[in-house]
Amino acid sequence: AREAVKHFGFGPHKHKVTADMLHDKVIGVLGGGQLGRMFVEAASRLNIQVNVLDAGHAPAKKIAHHNNHTDGSFKDVDSIQKLAQTCDVITVEIEHVDTHILEQIDSKSDIQPSWKTIRTIQDKYVQKEHLIDHGVATAQSIPIATNDSKGLEDAGHKLGFPFMLKSRTDAYDGRGNFPVKSAEDIPAALEALGKRPLYAEKWADFKMELAVMAVKTKDDVLAYPVVETVHEDSICKLVYAPARGVSSEVQQKAQELAKKAVSCFWGKGVFGVEMFLLSDDSLLINEIAPRPHNSGHYTIEACPTSQYEAHIRAILDFPIKQESLQLREPSIMLNILGGKEPDSHIKIAEQALDVARTQIHLYDKGAARPGRKMGHVTTTASSMAECEQLLAPLISAVDAQRR
Ligand code: ATP
Ligand code: MG
Ligand code: MG
Repeated sequence: AREAVKHFGFGPHKHKVTADMLHDKVIGVLGGGQLGRMFVEAASRLNIQVNVLDAGHAPAKKIAHHNNHTDGSFKDVDSIQKLAQTCDVITVEIEHVDTHILEQIDSKSDIQPSWKTIRTIQDKYVQKEHLIDHGVATAQSIPIATNDSKGLEDAGHKLGFPFMLKSRTDAYDGRGNFPVKSAEDIPAALEALGKRPLYAEKWADFKMELAVMAVKTKDDVLAYPVVETVHEDSICKLVYAPARGVSSEVQQKAQELAKKAVSCFWGKGVFGVEMFLLSDDSLLINEIAPRPHNSGHYTIEACPTSQYEAHIRAILDFPIKQESLQLREPSIMLNILGGKEPDSHIKIAEQALDVARTQIHLYDKGAARPGRKMGHVTTTASSMAECEQLLAPLISAVDAQRR
């Protein structure tokens, strides 16, 4: 990649750089959804080329025009191999990729984070076992031996009701979760998830959900501030940065837990760490994402270095300053989901044009369907109260669409 200028890159010749670039390495990314799109946006600003592997006109391709994107699936051997030939470092914007082919090309390609990390995390039950092995507290989880009434009744006996039935793999935005409130819900749970590999989680009676973006560099793990996430029907709706009404002691504990959790994985990059804050102020990990994350979108406006730029910096070994991960000012992120009408999300975005101190992100996904993430907005202001006041009408509009 960029062969002609390679020797002008970092290293002993850095004072001789003549080309207009920070780095001669090309990044390949598996997946071209909104996370890939915002990653490409951050890379573009640094004049770093990103080649995207995904189907046709994926959102991340449409934001950077060049001829080195690859059309195909991030679960397809040939497509991944083709992408690998066009880039120096491979990363992911989604964990549901084929890690066996990544393992095969590992000796020739720089894969960040490691395929081992992606493989461990992509099976949520294996992820939990890995965290427990490393002394990281998570919600108690048990595998479902057989996907039938007996298998789920056994889980209910062991964990009590309600419990959360979860797909081990290919889960996102709550598509893979089914709350089993009592034995009566078992048939519906099997109907919804019975064809997938399953495990069951003890119900977490949390008072709040928290998240921390952690950055794993070649020799350190850094943490962004602790944010509060609000989910509706298992899908993220709002992110408050910083988390409201959480003591500095709990914030510090949450950052430490996130760093501890992320340090038991391999390779470099940003990780999203989701947690439950229980009524006794103890923390449990919900899950970890080995990539930029919805709970870190706020960093684009609210922090000097966004999660996307931090990911670039981490995988290319650029310096990252802890001060640049701190909040400039409080912020709230609101997701814009597809609604009842094909253009419901556009109506919300139009209304957001009128909200002060607010940036709009539309993902250019084309077809909206109810519950699909179509965009988001981030409001920043000198106080959280001001953010809340500014965003209140838009939250009401989003709520009205769901009804
Ligand atoms: P994503 O990857 O988009 O964050 P996901 O499909 O992997 O979502 P989870 O993070 O497992 O789903 O769960 C989504 C939400 O469901 C959580 O943020 C929380 O609100 C709720 N939830 C998940 N597990 C439990 C649990 N054990 N007890 C209570 N609520 C839970
Ligand atoms: Mg998940
Ligand atoms: Mg989650």
